Amino acid sequence: MATLVNPQNTIEILQKYQFHFQKKFGQNFLIDAHVLDRIIEATQITKDDFVLEIGPGIGTMTQALCEQAREVVAVEIDSNLIPILKDTLRAYDNVTVLHQDILKVDFAALAEEKNEGRPIKVVANLPYYITTPIIMELFERHVPMDSITVMVQKEVAERMQQGPGSKDYGALSLAVQYYAKPQIVANVPPNCFMPRPGVGSAVIHLDCYSTPPVRVSDEKLMFALIRASFNQRRKTLANGLSHSGQLSLSKELIQECIEELGVPANIRGEALSLEQFARLADIIGEKEK
Ligand code: SAM
Repeated sequence: MATLVNPQNTIEILQKYQFHFQKKFGQNFLIDAHVLDRIIEATQITKDDFVLEIGPGIGTMTQALCEQAREVVAVEIDSNLIPILKDTLRAYDNVTVLHQDILKVDFAALAEEKNEGRPIKVVANLPYYITTPIIMELFERHVPMDSITVMVQKEVAERMQQGPGSKDYGALSLAVQYYAKPQIVANVPPNCFMPRPGVGSAVIHLDCYSTPPVRVSDEKLMFALIRASFNQRRKTLANGLSHSGQLSLSKELIQECIEELGVPANIRGEALSLEQFARLADIIGEKEK
């Protein structure tokens, strides 16, 4: 089977199977060999690795992953793509295609079964509307992972990398940076896909930490604080936290804790670093005991 990653070979497969793109599945297939090379290079996959690919499409990245990895599991929701994948991946005996919705996959059980619980590598070019929930699910469930290499909307990739002071800094930046070191490895214009998406894309590599870069006693409380702060962007941190439906903290307690953190009383949440959110969670946790 010739490599799929060019317009002619992709069109040939699509015509052979009379495939119709389904908008609801966010189907934009990669047709640029240079971008594929950048993705594979960023993953640093070796013959020791087990790789989970989310949304293989017609198998364009899957072929390259099979060449590099020990074993690949590719999870695809669209039943019309399953016979195509059987055809395009027939040369490889180290791949399993699961016809399933990725949102229903038990990642930890898969890592246990296929990799004896050792860290896995995740690679995906996903529909943009499920990218963030999936990344958060992988992190929050503490699935053992070395890295996630994923194609996302350009703005989302930028948000993941931002720190305090930038307008794009938010709950996603902090969540990603607590679990991984993000690095954009390629900017990808719409003409690298078939059909062309309406937005620019970027490949981001998230190099997962074995231990987070900051210590916090209650991770859940820290993320609740982060969410509450950024839900109310224009409010001060104190107002954001006291008006949150999720947290039941008195304004007096919040003000006391902010003072103990050593930042101005009228500071906004978006000025706090990950370290400061972790310390604030510890201070509040101590006072609530
Ligand atoms: N990886 C291929 C490529 O780069 O050419 C396809 C990328 S396309 C943007 C996204 C793929 O994810 C499609 O094949 C789509 O059918 C699949 N997909 C969408 N939602 C999914 C879900 N919930 N679970 C598994 N696959 C899904």
